[in-house]
Amino acid sequence: MKNFFLFIGIAISFVGCSLLGLNIARETPKKPSKLPKFTVEDSLIGYLSGDRDCYKPYYYELSIDFNIHKKSIEGVAKIHLLATKSFKTLMLNLHPNMQVRSIQYNGEEINYRRKFTGLWLDFKSQIDSGKQIILEIKYGGKPIVAKRPPWEGGFVWKKDKKGRPWIGVACEKVGANIWWPLKDHLSAEPDSMQMTFIVPKALTCVSNGKLIKEDSTETKKSFTYKVSYPINTYNATFYIGHFEHFSSGYAKIDNKRLHYYVLDYNLEKAREHFQQTRKIIQVYENTFGEYPFWRDEFKLVESPFEGMEHQTAIAYGNAYKNNAYGIDYIILHESAHEWWGNAISVKDYADIWIHEGMATYSEALFMEESMGHETYLNYLNFYGMLVKNKQNMEGPKDVNYWNYKDSDPYMKGALMMHSLRTCIHKDVVFFDILKSFYQTYKYQTVCTEDFIQMVNQKTGQDYHWFFKQYLNSRQVPKLVYYLDIKANSSDQVLYYKWENVAADFAMPVYITDVFGSAKMIYPSTTENSLKASGSYHMRIDTKCAYFASEIRKRP
Ligand SMILES: [Zn+2]
Repeated sequence: MKNFFLFIGIAISFVGCSLLGLNIARETPKKPSKLPKFTVEDSLIGYLSGDRDCYKPYYYELSIDFNIHKKSIEGVAKIHLLATKSFKTLMLNLHPNMQVRSIQYNGEEINYRRKFTGLWLDFKSQIDSGKQIILEIKYGGKPIVAKRPPWEGGFVWKKDKKGRPWIGVACEKVGANIWWPLKDHLSAEPDSMQMTFIVPKALTCVSNGKLIKEDSTETKKSFTYKVSYPINTYNATFYIGHFEHFSSGYAKIDNKRLHYYVLDYNLEKAREHFQQTRKIIQVYENTFGEYPFWRDEFKLVESPFEGMEHQTAIAYGNAYKNNAYGIDYIILHESAHEWWGNAISVKDYADIWIHEGMATYSEALFMEESMGHETYLNYLNFYGMLVKNKQNMEGPKDVNYWNYKDSDPYMKGALMMHSLRTCIHKDVVFFDILKSFYQTYKYQTVCTEDFIQMVNQKTGQDYHWFFKQYLNSRQVPKLVYYLDIKANSSDQVLYYKWENVAADFAMPVYITDVFGSAKMIYPSTTENSLKASGSYHMRIDTKCAYFASEIRKRP
């Protein structure tokens, strides 16, 4: 998801920084921010209760008929599922705004009960473990309207500049249950999907995957899309509007292309602006591995909200603007999610740093590849000023919780990756971790421990101490130091140690001399010292990792 903080503009000048409450000193506020009180409603989506843990949906087939005038939909959902345990009752999620018209299994009506988003189906006889069944649910209603898409999600019923309908949906966190019935848990990705959208004849509908069928009647047109990879259910989407399509070549040998759907009056602007996409995808492919969804194409679709990483149909709503580096942030950030968030997805929002921290770090890696290491460091250092340290980056589990106003999973997540790179101190190993993690887990759901295990395996060391500090504590490691300069001598001794960390925290940092040449030191929670002779003036390199530093008086 697009970063909320960047809503106010990434291209803000550094002159205005203090006005924005930037955390330049990398401080840890005394009090943590409050977590909300979690309720049954949160658990209905976030927790895998027995009546959800007994089955796996592997294929959804949706047909959605839009009434644009009434801002309502009528839908049919066919849910193909495998019973992983025997059950007589199962639970789905469907938002209370959606009325159930009928639920059928094997041609017979099924009784159901509802509370909040919970939709319980009571079968007449037991469904045995190992059985595959198909449910057909007819439903309809007025889906919730997004208050602030993509962060506070729902349907977006907008008009384009010519006053014509321009419609979309963004439902990360609130869940796909706002517009179709499903097992709405992050771990429950279907292997594939098919979606048909029925819209007034003048309009076009774009969705995830490949367009496999178009039909029309006198007044309506239907578009059927096939998603042939596992997909996060919040990524299933549609865009309705007056779109023009164009594509550009990516790799001649494989005949791969990049596709764009933009409002008709923006066609020429888009042809020019989207040229940068090719390089972004190339850098990510070189750094992480092949784009995960070539079979389903790569699409940017002009959206009635700023941006969202909808798998293979990325929402683009950044008004064709580049940032201070001459790059469009939305293309850069949301495309990275195809690797981090879409191909590899978390099982719980507690681990959302894997989506947002990795996507944000990918931005910095693109900067490094195209503009050099110094730009990479400056890019991350700027993000470092946006870190709040008000909550642990790893959030509470099983309650579908993610505070989109806390940008730490983005910024601090990216800086944690940068710090890890400094710790490992061998780029060959560090980039092998990124590539191997992606290769091993693409098209699967993961948790933080899966990533730590990959780091440990590739480094031959246990890095739990590192992740514990950055993910399970909000305390910023603080390097405290002082310099002892001997009288009548140009020798100096640097005394240093870590504070605000556990005893096993062992992150090295760089110090540099006046000529910029770097040396690594290994602080611990007990004081260490380093003697330098001659005119070796030492400076702590605060850009090499995310930590605070404080010079103290000589005791
Ligand atoms: Zn994002």
